[in-house]
Amino acid sequence: MFRLIAGPCTVESREQTLTTARAVAAGGAVMLRGGAWKPRTSPHSFQGLGHAGLRILAEARAETGLPIVTELTDVREIDAVLAVADVIQVGARNMSNSALLTEIGRSGRPALLKRGAASTIDDLLAAADYILAEGNEDVTLCERGIRTFETSTRFTLDVAAVPVLKERTRLPVIVDPSHAAGRRELVRPLALAAVAAGADGLIVEVHPDPAEALCDGPQALTTAEFAAFADDVYALAAAVAPAPSLAAAA
Ligand code: PEP
Ligand code: MN
Repeated sequence: MFRLIAGPCTVESREQTLTTARAVAAGGAVMLRGGAWKPRTSPHSFQGLGHAGLRILAEARAETGLPIVTELTDVREIDAVLAVADVIQVGARNMSNSALLTEIGRSGRPALLKRGAASTIDDLLAAADYILAEGNEDVTLCERGIRTFETSTRFTLDVAAVPVLKERTRLPVIVDPSHAAGRRELVRPLALAAVAAGADGLIVEVHPDPAEALCDGPQALTTAEFAAFADDVYALAAAVAPAPSLAAAA
């Protein structure tokens, strides 16, 4: 089953998060994303609402029924995150934080592991091993763009990582076109490229009013455009998926 995960980069307020959650639920997302703690490049940028953000996510789940994926940035907050998260996200900046990975492994909670911006596919698989080694096999890998010499996108989406990872592991592989693109116009083409390459899902950022977003506004799809985006993604995913009879014969 192809998985479309969507929601705000950051939980900014109850209204912003619930508005977004309703829109992505109506548009066909199967999970709500949203960060309560944000691993910002600068300490002067908005760092997230923390525990108050988790409470808003819990309310969004109660209202929409969407499971929640949210990032754990600090192992000291694992109990608080476990109380709300159906899936724990490990961000690109923490991909190599082995203590964090081990604790998530021990928790047994499904994990979404993002590739570090300067990490190889081998590095990503080795990071996943820290979670798997604790007996937690519910790990989804996420390609979110890597650092290259190219500056016209925020990161360079490594589309080839999708088939390469699928050759090397049985873990599901999803793609985050939002952080790779850095601007909304590029999210749809990168998303479709990822689906065509065989991704098992996408995670995208959505905001009711991206111009006012406290984090990653330029790359957020608007709540108004999300449903059409989701329709296109699901239509391509259905076309790319092997027919059940062929899959059974393989
Ligand atoms: C995010 O998902 O909002 C995020 C910070 O992503 P990444 O860790 O890939 O930069
Ligand atoms: Mn973001």
